[in-house]
Amino acid sequence: MLFVSLALSSCGPDGGAAAPAASQSPAPDRVSSTPRQVPTTAPPRSTTPEPDPPTVVLDAGHNGGNASALSEINREVPAGRGRMKPCNTTGTATDDGYPEHVFNFDVAKRVGEALRARGVRVVGTRDSDDGVGPCVDRRAAIGNEVNADAVVSIHADGSSTQGSGFHVAFSDPPLNPAQGDPANRLATTVLDAMAAEFPVADYIGEGGLSGRDDLAGLNLSEVPAVLVECGNMRNPDEASVMSTPEGRQRYADAITEGVLAYLG
Ligand SMILES: [Zn+2]
Repeated sequence: MLFVSLALSSCGPDGGAAAPAASQSPAPDRVSSTPRQVPTTAPPRSTTPEPDPPTVVLDAGHNGGNASALSEINREVPAGRGRMKPCNTTGTATDDGYPEHVFNFDVAKRVGEALRARGVRVVGTRDSDDGVGPCVDRRAAIGNEVNADAVVSIHADGSSTQGSGFHVAFSDPPLNPAQGDPANRLATTVLDAMAAEFPVADYIGEGGLSGRDDLAGLNLSEVPAVLVECGNMRNPDEASVMSTPEGRQRYADAITEGVLAYLG
């Protein structure tokens, strides 16, 4: 019986029985051909999913066209915590007339270039400095839509000439988990990197940090977000730094370092 059984099974693949041959031969062919192709088409390692690059949204505050579109930017939009705020504002300027929106856009561009060079996916909330808006609620939505690992809004303040230094604002009290520990950690890494290069603000916040409940971009963010006020444009010393490309590169380098420290 054993001999007969072996004989029958050995005849099947030789074409003795059509149905078994048809059903059996393709399967072994597929099984044996697939492994042979793997080394020639792609190394086995390529099948391991590569981690997505981290995504950072850079939000350069204000915009160059805002001043000539006041009715549009004064339109009220949701600002979080049940409040409404103007869509956007014009921003401040140095006493010599160097506008904040130019500073913000240039620093954001420099940060973006540095982060991209480190493999970070960078998304901006505006791609030029001569447009209008976007509104603050739309800026927050961009970070949420791309599920950003971090959102950094870049601004410069316009306080009294005596005040100086940078500060990092975060949503306080937090409205969701991302605004809690993750945003606080992002604020701290950016603070540390900025503090290595620039003085902390002596006119607002505490030790360079400022918890805020009135900033729409932070209130509406569902991902870790901070707003950096790089300095006070009304302070002559800081204004002179902000007005030079070298100075803006220093701000950009510090922000980049803080973001990279957060991303790990
Ligand atoms: Zn601003």
